[in-house]
Amino acid sequence: MPDARRIVEEAEARLAPLSEEMNLAWWASQVEATEQNAKRRERAEIAWSDALADREQFAAVETARRNGAADDVARRLDLLRDAMLRRQIPDGLRSRIVELETSVDLRFSRHRGIVGGAEVGDTEITRILRRSDDPRERREAWEASKIVGAVVADDVRELARLRNEAARTLGYRDWFALSLATDELDENRLVATLAETDRVTAEPFARWNSALGERLADRFGCAVADLRPWHHADPFFQEVPPDGAVDLDPYFDGADIVGLARRTIEGVGLDAAGIIERSDVYPRDGKNQHAFCIDIDRRGDVRVLANLVTTHESADTMLHELGHGVYDLGFRDDLPWLLRSTHLVATEASALLFGSLPGRREWLERILGLSPREADELEPRLRGARAVQLLVFTRWVLVMNAFERALYANPDGDLDALWWELVSRYQHVTPPDDRRAPDWAAKIHIAVSPVYYHTYLYGAIVALQLDAALESEVGGIVDRADAGALLRERLFAPGQSVRWDRLVEDASGSPLSVESLARAVAAA
Ligand SMILES: [Zn+2]
Repeated sequence: MPDARRIVEEAEARLAPLSEEMNLAWWASQVEATEQNAKRRERAEIAWSDALADREQFAAVETARRNGAADDVARRLDLLRDAMLRRQIPDGLRSRIVELETSVDLRFSRHRGIVGGAEVGDTEITRILRRSDDPRERREAWEASKIVGAVVADDVRELARLRNEAARTLGYRDWFALSLATDELDENRLVATLAETDRVTAEPFARWNSALGERLADRFGCAVADLRPWHHADPFFQEVPPDGAVDLDPYFDGADIVGLARRTIEGVGLDAAGIIERSDVYPRDGKNQHAFCIDIDRRGDVRVLANLVTTHESADTMLHELGHGVYDLGFRDDLPWLLRSTHLVATEASALLFGSLPGRREWLERILGLSPREADELEPRLRGARAVQLLVFTRWVLVMNAFERALYANPDGDLDALWWELVSRYQHVTPPDDRRAPDWAAKIHIAVSPVYYHTYLYGAIVALQLDAALESEVGGIVDRADAGALLRERLFAPGQSVRWDRLVEDASGSPLSVESLARAVAAA
């Protein structure tokens, strides 16, 4: 027994500084994209990855697990094993995977489509699909968004073969099975949850989507049967089209987004001041254009990178990232390093919960200062928009998950046909006539963030469950210190000392279930 404790304590002593340097180097490279920062990041990532690949230590962890360890030592061994397992593959194979991933990623970032004879990036393509009334221009933009698929498809298939080979050397069926196992996700349960998700969203989605189809046919002067993917507002129909959303931006004109976010977090009795002080939240040349939250040292140095402007989306983003941040600051003081972390599903649930607040009546009234009458008028539309957002998103997750499962089951299969079969089944989108192209490969996540989409779905479901629990136990979230206290006590404080599925059950009062999703989408 003392032996097992010594193994985890030694591993923590070795990993903690490497992790901190990797996080600092990552942060530096994201706030300022210089050659020097990129090199520092690469060095730190290699050092971290090498430490996790240590075969001797992995063997010691496996032995200690077999011998059985007590209380939190057993849990720390499990987490250590999950972190190390994927790196226990032949060195040659590991480097081939990393090189191919990097090369595909690079081709994605360099690729530009052509519309009207000019090069266009993703932002311009999205702008055309959101605004253009010219079907020819839309079709050209949509097709331009897919060209990168043909450029990388062979390599994405090769990546799937290599990942499968890696998984099999570790005794797993394929990469899909290995990924779920190391993320503590049960495959049968996932398959069942997705089937349930399909069942509870099919009817409300069909209803909403057929009304959307009529509006689109009207707008483009064609029959519903003639609608094709380019009539949708984004290349994959993964986002709510503008006409399904409520435009809250006029209310955010000139708003102090950071101040509002801070006021929101303080209103639930949690602290955001320290995070905000360390953060980098306004747009600037040479920094990452997206947003993330990072826990640098698991001892309180938590930072957010964002590019805020004065819109509703920016308020959502800032509160989403702070939702991750307050979680990281909420771990019990006495937790050891390995347990001072979060499961992806749990932290994403917290982030989604806080990020949803600026789209709700109580927040708009209490934090942004809308009159009760304005808020009253908005409420049913906000509820409807939230439901539509969940519907569009869950149908898209069903496509992605079924596709990736099939990709790893057989990387040599007819993936081009399968993709459109899934898109038409789940999203009710009619494929372009006679289309033969690897359109699936244009989705960058399949190449560089494999087998991940279901964590977003689980996170969204858990956020709904937490929301319901807070509503029934403390009456809501906005300006309720009891809400922050409940989250801190039941969700944040345990860190990873308990498995995520039990944590969710403890925090929300029920195991993960699609019931909350079924209720939420009924408002569409
Ligand atoms: Zn997030």
